[in-house]
Amino acid sequence: MTIELKDIKKIYQVGTQQVAALNGIDLNIKKGEFAALMGPSGSGKSTLMNILGCLDRPTEGSYKLDGAEVAHLGDDELAKTRNKKIGFVFQNFNLLSRISALENVALPLVYAGVGYKERHERAHYFLRAVGLDDRAEHQPNELSGGQRQRVAIARALVNDPSIIMADEPTGNLDTKSTREIMNIFMDLHEQGKTVILVTHEPEIAECASRQLLVRDGKITKDVGKGVKMDVV
Ligand code: ADP
Ligand code: MG
Repeated sequence: MTIELKDIKKIYQVGTQQVAALNGIDLNIKKGEFAALMGPSGSGKSTLMNILGCLDRPTEGSYKLDGAEVAHLGDDELAKTRNKKIGFVFQNFNLLSRISALENVALPLVYAGVGYKERHERAHYFLRAVGLDDRAEHQPNELSGGQRQRVAIARALVNDPSIIMADEPTGNLDTKSTREIMNIFMDLHEQGKTVILVTHEPEIAECASRQLLVRDGKITKDVGKGVKMDVV
């Protein structure tokens, strides 16, 4: 099992107030699965994705990633785990605006200590894989939304992670770009990567091999491919 969550809880402390965002999540995801998370706004999807993506830690519970407990790792260990195993794609792309597409894609390799020549070769390779090598020297503001998201996906892939996660990756995109981005995720799934994404769009969720519904910090439905999931 790639991902095993047991009774995951997340409480945010806001001033004197406590916000319970996750109320006991149990979830197993196998290697190579393609899971789509759906659910109303505020139900806890991003909180769950951030924990799955090793961007944040749960307040309570167990998270085993490839058999190793990661729920309570320190910042450095958590970042190492993330860089090794997970590529994360954000709704708003999170590209650095003052450097080129190529340099954005190469950035995780800078952190990993990979040398200049190999960095550039690998960044070009993944830009080509998302159909954007001819935009390598463009800065993010010289690219369309769909192109920016493809750069962000190339950046997520550059460390060759086995798991790709995305939080509403097509939330800011038009229909055509959405289709291009989804084709990339489906290709990654076919190549054997584990893919987990959050989406509001039922047509996108139906591409997945599994659809999960999050409500009030819990998983309330878990269905297989091709089922039209009733999200209420
Ligand atoms: P979703 O992605 O499904 O819209 P979130 O995971 O963003 O839901 O939010 C779940 C709950 O946690 C909401 O009530 C939200 O207000 C709260 N929340 C999310 N992030 C934070 C945070 N950083 N600090 C405090 N509360 C948060
Ligand atoms: Mg969210």
